[in-house]
Amino acid sequence: MEKIKKSNNEWKTILAPEQFRILREKNTEAPFTGKLLYNKKKGLYVCAACGNKLFRSNTKYESGTGWPSFWDTYSKSSVVLKKETGPMGRIEVMCNRCGSHLGHVFDDGPKPTGKHYCINSASLVFNEKKGK
Ligand code: FE
Repeated sequence: MEKIKKSNNEWKTILAPEQFRILREKNTEAPFTGKLLYNKKKGLYVCAACGNKLFRSNTKYESGTGWPSFWDTYSKSSVVLKKETGPMGRIEVMCNRCGSHLGHVFDDGPKPTGKHYCINSASLVFNEKKGK
């Protein structure tokens, strides 16, 4: 996959301030505030920074956490994972194309994967699938 690398100043011209804060500075949106949390339409979720395909609507589920949650990624190479330092030892999820912060992955997801990709709504753009 061709990587996208931009300076912070370049990202600031592309992203809204709240998106920059999350995608490039690894912050987290407040729970139950994201506009895609309850989205149940069919389509693809892509990176809000670069458009890379990240998640499919048919793996989205209601985790109760307040963030859009998925049990699988669009493809094996959609995201890159990184273990965070610090007491919680969470696994960070980043876009594999542009390195933007998306959220975290946990092991309390549903079958078949058991994974729970807990993703900021602000890190995603939803592309609705038209027709059947
Ligand atoms: Fe990206």
